Amino acid sequence: MSQFDPNSKRILIVDDSPTVGMVVKNAVSNVVNLPVDLALSLNAAQLLIAEHPNKYQVAVADLNLPDAKDGEAVDMVLSCGIATIVLTGSLDSDTHERISAKPIVDYVTKQSPGSIAIVQKSVLHTLRNMQCKVIIIEQNPAYRSYLKKILLTQKLEVVEVESAEIALHTIDRMNDISVAITAYELPGMDGIELCMKMRTNYPSTKLAILGITNSSNDFSGVRFFKAGADDIIHKPFLVEELVSRVNTRLDYLDSLRIIQEQANRDYLTKLYNRRYLFEMGNVLFSNAKRSNIKIMIAMLDIDFFKRINDTYGHDVGDMAIVAVAKAISKGFRTSDIVARMGGEEFCIIAINNAAPVETMERIRQYIEAMPIPLNDTESINLTISIGVTTTLFDTMDEMINHADQALYTAKQSGRNQVVLS
Ligand code: GH3
Ligand code: MG
Ligand code: MG
Repeated sequence: MSQFDPNSKRILIVDDSPTVGMVVKNAVSNVVNLPVDLALSLNAAQLLIAEHPNKYQVAVADLNLPDAKDGEAVDMVLSCGIATIVLTGSLDSDTHERISAKPIVDYVTKQSPGSIAIVQKSVLHTLRNMQCKVIIIEQNPAYRSYLKKILLTQKLEVVEVESAEIALHTIDRMNDISVAITAYELPGMDGIELCMKMRTNYPSTKLAILGITNSSNDFSGVRFFKAGADDIIHKPFLVEELVSRVNTRLDYLDSLRIIQEQANRDYLTKLYNRRYLFEMGNVLFSNAKRSNIKIMIAMLDIDFFKRINDTYGHDVGDMAIVAVAKAISKGFRTSDIVARMGGEEFCIIAINNAAPVETMERIRQYIEAMPIPLNDTESINLTISIGVTTTLFDTMDEMINHADQALYTAKQSGRNQVVLS
């Protein structure tokens, strides 16, 4: 049985060599959490697509197959609206010309030593790009369409505008554009001024800017960089060059997001960590206090947790921490902060909760009744103690201290209970 949901999107590999096909299939399966199917012929690919209509998001297809000697397999998957990465045996200028005429995402030559890694990266880029927006700022409609066509083959969502003023307005309104590609010459405000204006609200960590200059000995490239552009590209450029620069900027934004997540989240439970709690908790606290909104802070600690570790081992202890973390976060909104303070201790800062003690009591009961599986047949149960405060002190730290004292009282009074400070 597959571990994937039957409605899940899929990936298709088409190659007549079972060896190459399996290598590619395994390589893609290793980096993407989607079902990957292998077809050894054009006919087999058609059958799979008929079996899973509209499910294939990306295909990696061999250019030449015994039953499709002239790239028909690539044309067939493209005609089904599937983003396609082409595998070719060799790359001469004729093959390049044939491939470039097709609206494919990318092509990979099988001979190159790193080709499997390139296929993996290309599949990941394609899936990522389906979630990303790019804006093109260019006054010439023909050139704008040319750029748009290139970016659409990369499965990016493309917004096109003809002036800097419209660009600024559009970026603000949409608020989820990742890359701005701007010409130098524009009607009214030019590309340089636009670049400076975009940078006042959007740092490089939020929006990548790519400036297009008219030639490599043009001074506008220098001015673009000095105005805050992340990269420039000189006309005329290779399609591959533009694609690579855009993907590199998106990779950079992805890496920043991942680093930020890692800095703010606890590795085991994926809850916020202590550092984030104190940083964002103080912001949440100050805003709520200023607007006279109710704040609840709760401290939670698993009872006799050391016994669980000692009896069943550290791995079961970890599983128990994860299960408790999940159960706690279910009770709160994403705007609240649920954090792991360390060990088997958690802290919650919730805003505008109508019945804080009742909420915490529900969570206590839920966890008390929740089985933590040891294996297929056995499970264990555990309990938690909770200290809560809703009294608005001057600082968040004071509220945390009061919740902590209430937690201590809950422990002293027999555990498995909620105590209000
Ligand atoms: P009490 O009811 O008074 O809270 O008793 P307790 O046993 O839960 O409290 P204590 O603070 O003595 O024990 C907490 C234990 O949690 C000790 C530590 O080894 C263990 N621990 C801390 N972090 C982790 C972790 O990440 N994973 C696991 N498995 N255990 C952890
Ligand atoms: Mg404990
Ligand atoms: Mg503890």
